[in-house]
Amino acid sequence: MIDTHAHIDADVFDEDREEMIAHAFNNGIEAIIIPAIEPTRYDGVLSICDTHEHIYCGMGVHPHNAHEYSQEVEDRIISLLSLPKVIAVGEIGLDYYYDFAPKEMQKDVFRRQLSIAKSLDLPVIIHNRESDDDMIAILQEEQTGELKGVLHCFSSDLTMLHRALELGFHISFTGNITYKKSVLDEIVRATPLNRIMIETDSPYMTPVPHRGKRNEPSFVQFIAQKIADIYALTVEEIITMTSSNAKSLFRLPLFLIIILMGLTSYPILAQNDANDEDSEEQIEVVEKNPYARFIGFGPSLATNTIVETLTDMDNPDRRDTRSWDGNPAFGFSIAYNPLEFLMLEGGIMHTRNNAKLKNALPVPGTPTDPDVYTVFNVTARAIANPRSKVAFFALGGINFQSKRIHSTNVSFTDDSQLAFNAGAGFMVNIPTSFGMIIPIAEWRLDFESKNDTITLPNEQKYKDWGDIEISTFYSLPRLTILWYPKF
Ligand SMILES: [Zn+2]
Ligand SMILES: [Zn+2]
Repeated sequence: MIDTHAHIDADVFDEDREEMIAHAFNNGIEAIIIPAIEPTRYDGVLSICDTHEHIYCGMGVHPHNAHEYSQEVEDRIISLLSLPKVIAVGEIGLDYYYDFAPKEMQKDVFRRQLSIAKSLDLPVIIHNRESDDDMIAILQEEQTGELKGVLHCFSSDLTMLHRALELGFHISFTGNITYKKSVLDEIVRATPLNRIMIETDSPYMTPVPHRGKRNEPSFVQFIAQKIADIYALTVEEIITMTSSNAKSLFRLPLFLIIILMGLTSYPILAQNDANDEDSEEQIEVVEKNPYARFIGFGPSLATNTIVETLTDMDNPDRRDTRSWDGNPAFGFSIAYNPLEFLMLEGGIMHTRNNAKLKNALPVPGTPTDPDVYTVFNVTARAIANPRSKVAFFALGGINFQSKRIHSTNVSFTDDSQLAFNAGAGFMVNIPTSFGMIIPIAEWRLDFESKNDTITLPNEQKYKDWGDIEISTFYSLPRLTILWYPKF
């Protein structure tokens, strides 16, 4: 979940800002964006961003503060926009409800900041209240192809929605969609899922069931839940869509990998169904470490392709390759996660090489190694997104390979030896009432650490080769099903 609009630099958070932020990140918030509203607050906003990895900000002058805009302020905004944590121009816009600044001044300040965003290719965070006509006129005029951004706290009508969508803008909803008297259901339903974002607008606009209290980023779950109800989708689906929209609009740098995975990733959330708007009961949305304190185990199946490179030891430029495809391999694994993104596995895998040698050495008695081998491995999987339904990982580890090779009348070293494994894959995290079931699909390459050598008797020399050195690797597309029982 990303709270795309939260004024957590506001004074009301001075007493407990750190606890409030920690609470948000412990309750499923991935990132927070603070839109700065006036120059006197810039330093405060930047210091929050500097001290928290996943908090970003926008820089701008809010329409309420339009009279504070000057060339000097504009220069400062432009220089701050080059900082890595400053990812948008905002909060900017028009507000004719409070009318704290003259309309002409608001429009001028808004336009100047839109052109900064266009020249720096940054998204804008737009505030719009009771100013639909002027807002859309300005956006239409300024949209020359490069303008992108979000209309935050969207509360306008369908006509405004359609015009904003046509101009390419994202739409962000906040706590007012949860209010009993809200007429925004229709607007939410009319907003395509690839343009929706969620926000709290903290400390204002507190959603039901906390209405009346101070708003804070962890409450953004209630907006996600309300949108899920309107769309008749799961809250996980709404969170996935809104997060991926925010990541791509604001180009949140740390999340690039997860954007790529966004299409298939759904956070695993525990929740209950209590979402009666009038009840004070909180909808519990808690992201859990899916493997906490668990040990998992289960069988593996693979198809093992053995590839050997033969080198003539008398003439090392002379090489040949031979391979055996598709040997069935089977095994058993035990896994343990000391950290949620690290899965350690101990396993055993057994292969019997029954395949016919494709391009065998044309000599009698040549080993068709390895006939039978058993691998004990210790492998670590580094999981990129362990809390997602589909989680991706890279793996690496050490194997002990025990080989038994059938050969006649040749001298052959067939030491059991160490090998290294490396690979990548994905797993599906399926929570069930009897624990986690985790099917894993991965592709492993195993490299032997030492080469074997063959010494053939003179009359059996391979073509005119001398003694032969063999380096071997194994390619295993592998399926494993782990069960992490509950206990
Ligand atoms: Zn606003
Ligand atoms: Zn705001």
